[in-house]
Amino acid sequence: MTRGLVLPAARAPVAVTEFAIPEPGPGQVLVKVEACGICHSDLFISGLEKLPLAPVVLGHEGIGRVAKLGAGVASLAPGDRVGITYLASTCGECEWCLTGRERFCPRQTNSGYNSPGALAGYASVPAQHLARVPEGLSAAEAAPLCCAGWTAYRAVQEAALTEGAGIGIFGMGGLGHLAVQYARQAHLRVAAVDVSEHKLTLAREVGAEITVMADNAGRTLQKEHGGMDAAVVLTASTAAIGQALRSLKRCGTLVLVGLARATFEMPVMDTVIKGIRIRGSALGTPQDLEAVFRLAVTGAVRPHIERHALDEAPALLEKMHRGELVGRAVIEF
Ligand SMILES: [Zn+2]
Ligand SMILES: [Zn+2]
Repeated sequence: MTRGLVLPAARAPVAVTEFAIPEPGPGQVLVKVEACGICHSDLFISGLEKLPLAPVVLGHEGIGRVAKLGAGVASLAPGDRVGITYLASTCGECEWCLTGRERFCPRQTNSGYNSPGALAGYASVPAQHLARVPEGLSAAEAAPLCCAGWTAYRAVQEAALTEGAGIGIFGMGGLGHLAVQYARQAHLRVAAVDVSEHKLTLAREVGAEITVMADNAGRTLQKEHGGMDAAVVLTASTAAIGQALRSLKRCGTLVLVGLARATFEMPVMDTVIKGIRIRGSALGTPQDLEAVFRLAVTGAVRPHIERHALDEAPALLEKMHRGELVGRAVIEF
């Protein structure tokens, strides 16, 4: 038997549940999970009105070792250190899969959503997109890289800036404090924005040059710092999108990452006249994931983590809902 964080049905309270260790099916491997981070998307999924798979084990920032191979898996061996990300499987034949953009495959399955998640002692998951995780990082430190790090890294790349340019990062949670570090690695000038002073303190510690409270961030960044070349919005708040748009210089890029079931009113004239580019960014490429692990192994980028036991997971989701988590909460098994 093993235990995991289970969402029993749509909008039902999550619970730590005991269940039989799942046998790996064809194309799957059984992973003995050592650590898994808690992501805002776990909260998002637990609030959905409909679920494609229920009950479902949540979690998509899992680090562990392959314990058993399912039929037809030749790419991995027992003992291999792997990372379970949100991208569980893809079709391998659509135009996005064939051009290195598997993360946009319309037939993808996702860990902790419509494929089993990693917030459990053992998980049987598709082998197809499991990340190779280098030694030299603890499982708890590596876990947040599988989603928060990967997604934040790609979002900063999508801004497509050159050294010395200014980037505003809106939302200093699990992704934000890593995005600040990736932007610093790219020699960008970083402005961090949040509603919480605690989180802005962490942002300064990890290298943000400018920190601004969210209320009037657009105007402040425009007037006092000459505007931003790009703004990355990692929160689900449309108010933050508005502030981010207002913070941009002419020809600036707005990168949207935070998931929200919301619509946003865009000022058309300003967007056109100022040549603003708007793009969405989800997850990253396999090469991004390698870069993210490499930057962590060398110590260039350090996730700020809190370690917890599985039994604390439901309370941690509540805390995340209230915006009280600083850095990333990681469950150790
Ligand atoms: Zn995530
Ligand atoms: Zn595909």
